[in-house]
Amino acid sequence: MKEFVETIEKLSKKIQRQINLMEVCGTHTVSIFRHGIRSLIPSNIKLLSGPGCPVCVTPIQDIDRMLYIAKQPNVIVTTFGDMMRVPGSDGSLYRAKAEGVDVRMVYSPLDALKVAEQNRDKKVVFFAVGFETTSPLIAATVAVAEDKKIENFYIYSVHKLVPPALEVLVNTEELKLDGFILPGHVSTIIGSKPYEFIVSKYKKACVITGFDADDILQAIAMLLKQILEDEPRIQIQYKDAVKPEGNPKAVEFINMYFEQADSNWRGIGVIPKSGLKLKKEYSHRDAEKVFDIPPLQSKEPKGCQCGLVLRGVKLPPECPLFGKICTPQNPVGACMVSSEGSCAAYYKYARG
Ligand code: SF4
Repeated sequence: MKEFVETIEKLSKKIQRQINLMEVCGTHTVSIFRHGIRSLIPSNIKLLSGPGCPVCVTPIQDIDRMLYIAKQPNVIVTTFGDMMRVPGSDGSLYRAKAEGVDVRMVYSPLDALKVAEQNRDKKVVFFAVGFETTSPLIAATVAVAEDKKIENFYIYSVHKLVPPALEVLVNTEELKLDGFILPGHVSTIIGSKPYEFIVSKYKKACVITGFDADDILQAIAMLLKQILEDEPRIQIQYKDAVKPEGNPKAVEFINMYFEQADSNWRGIGVIPKSGLKLKKEYSHRDAEKVFDIPPLQSKEPKGCQCGLVLRGVKLPPECPLFGKICTPQNPVGACMVSSEGSCAAYYKYARG
């Protein structure tokens, strides 16, 4: 670690200007806080947190739509624990559960499928969130549901893809990004190729990295070297887990069941082809098609700045509600719910 810190100091002195690097993954955000990495690097290196928490980037409209589905007769909604706590316009899935609506927390989509198997007289909907890391498991669950002919199992997919969001961020003028600390886990699936446009089109530095303090510090040193030498490229620091070609079998498997679709990101808006929806052949399992959801009037919590936080434009403490009205025990916005959310990470590790 000492060696990387010294290299960062040397390189940053030579660069002599502010360098803006964005870590895209929520696990990196937490690791940067946990290891006090900001305090180990010179002040002209600014680390910005990106939209890398799947719970946080799910927009309020989707929470409201899930609440609508959950309140229909003979329906069981299943999802991960954090999703249950994200506030919608009128309460969360957790609150709906407390009021008697059948919402169940699961640890895996396969658990949700089990619920469907055990409740054949009910429509069981899995609220599927995540990035490329979790989508192979969702695809596997659809495969099992098809194989076992579990007809009462449905997916509401808000699955997101990381590379299209990066293109939006790199074009966000306020950020003036010099480079990206790219996510290790996502890259084990997609490899390095989907990021190539960041270098060829935008000439930004990129390093795919692991999650320990020395991984992140080494990645920062690698990024600074690329910037100093004006030779942007995609380097893989996390070589034990990430291959340039990723995991083609996993990608092929996802593509058997899902296709790319436009997707709405909290704070960013609709990004073309940045989400995964079930393919036409499996539309009988697509909750958005099966349930007739009317247009709903969603309203963001008053004063919440999640949108600006997710784009890296504002830091959580700049939100007037941070730590006062909005806390992990009583989250006002999605970024305070998941431990990988920027607001929750700031609250835990960097509160005044
Ligand atoms: Fe939203 Fe709370 Fe974060 Fe403010 S502190 S941006 S209200 S989640």
